[in-house]
Amino acid sequence: MLAERTLGAALRARAALRPGHTALVCGGVEQSYVELDRESDRVARCLRAGERVAFLGKESPHYYELLFGCSRAGAVLVPINWRLTGAEVAHIVADSGATVLFADRGCAKAVEQVPDTPVVWLDGFEGWKAGAPDGAPVESGPDDPVAQLYTSGTTGLPKGVVLGQRGFFAVRASLAEAGLDWLDWRADDVSLVGVPGFHIGGLWWAVQGLTSGITNVIMPAFASGEAVRLVGEHGVTITCVVPAMLRLMLDEPEAARLRGLRKIVYGGSPISEALLSRCLDVVGCELAQIYGLTETGNTAVCLPPSEHVPGGARMRAAGRPYPGVELEVRDSSGHPVPVGEVGEVWLRSPANMLEYWGNPAATAESLVDGWVRTGDAGHVDDEGFVFLRDRVKDMIIVAGENVYPAEIEGALAGHPAIADSAVIGVPDERWGEAVHAFVVLKEKATARELMTFLKGTLAAFKLPLRYEFVETIPRNPSGKILRRVLREQFWRDRDRQVN
Ligand code: ATP
Repeated sequence: MLAERTLGAALRARAALRPGHTALVCGGVEQSYVELDRESDRVARCLRAGERVAFLGKESPHYYELLFGCSRAGAVLVPINWRLTGAEVAHIVADSGATVLFADRGCAKAVEQVPDTPVVWLDGFEGWKAGAPDGAPVESGPDDPVAQLYTSGTTGLPKGVVLGQRGFFAVRASLAEAGLDWLDWRADDVSLVGVPGFHIGGLWWAVQGLTSGITNVIMPAFASGEAVRLVGEHGVTITCVVPAMLRLMLDEPEAARLRGLRKIVYGGSPISEALLSRCLDVVGCELAQIYGLTETGNTAVCLPPSEHVPGGARMRAAGRPYPGVELEVRDSSGHPVPVGEVGEVWLRSPANMLEYWGNPAATAESLVDGWVRTGDAGHVDDEGFVFLRDRVKDMIIVAGENVYPAEIEGALAGHPAIADSAVIGVPDERWGEAVHAFVVLKEKATARELMTFLKGTLAAFKLPLRYEFVETIPRNPSGKILRRVLREQFWRDRDRQVN
């Protein structure tokens, strides 16, 4: 069924089968499969094999025409987060060696800081395509790169993750071969794409939908009220979200509209059991968790709907690797640890990145014999389910005991007065490090009440020593807590107190 294995060929096959079916609805524009196919061909004729083309702007049909156009021409799309500063955009454009930057006028200020690279404004995109020479574009192969995504830099300087075409089909192919329905796309599905396309979660989800021949309702930028409205208006049946988006959607006054969904796929950051149970109550649809990194071409592990049993031990798992994906938990010297023991998760997947662009040293560090070192701490149980703790680097050591922020945040989420929270490790004279909690309240509560609440669920050494009440928790567009920002905030406040 998925013999195509390149994005461009898969789209061509869907366009042949369902030419008039709506492929995407985005910002008031609708495009059928045959139209998307034709426009992608025109784009492809304007591009050359191997060239990098950067895109800076909110989602629009142009973005997908470029993606499939790149696939057909053997070029590589470099999507850039439109919230980045001019200097950050300039770094990515320079690092990727992009030959052209497609940009939205809304990003003009950032574009001013990009020297030397020719810019095509998106309001002139049609004119640019009109210059396409005649003739069929060269079709690229499954092993060719098609996208280069920059990591968000929560763990260091952004690096360009080069992803091949084949990887985008790995999960569906392996599930189909094994006859598993952990994730499925049905002909009558309507998918909501709310995660941005410059993030692997959004790009991967949109590609799955567009190469399945279903209708995709793509949000130019996520807003929870709008997402709920779109689900009702378009009869959306499936979506993929990060936990922070899910929480906001469930908080919407019209959240009952989400009952039309048959499946929610979620992942990208730790989720609390409280949020999962609430979702089952409010929406009542199937849930599937996915776990992976940009470097693993998105998901390598899935917790299928059947494991979403409230109170069940597996509700805390991230899931099991797909058939054909290998997962090992290793110690700091790279040796596998026994079942049940915590170590770093390593993943070998057919969707793993090809390399970090122009960075052989970083590639050699993260990609070892085809295995990606995830930087995530976790353990597996005797049936191969992986339970994540948190990022290895975010671990807090209190009096020699390892504490993972995600566990404390998960426990805090169970308190009815808490809207959001994040914890970091801070130096402590007595214990070496202590847990410091940032809390956003939706109802009145005192630090003492929160402390009493947590005492019932967490061991004493895991309890936050201090609670700081804040307006918001800084998160990146994929919903990840920006602990770096919180640490800076902590040190700024502390320095102010000292001086
Ligand atoms: P950087 O590598 O710079 O931090 P990033 O934050 O954008 O960039 P991604 O590849 O988007 O990196 O995120 C991958 C990380 O997201 C994983 O390593 C893991 O920490 C977290 N993650 C993804 N899925 C899940 C999940 N289901 N549960 C918990 N954490 C998850």
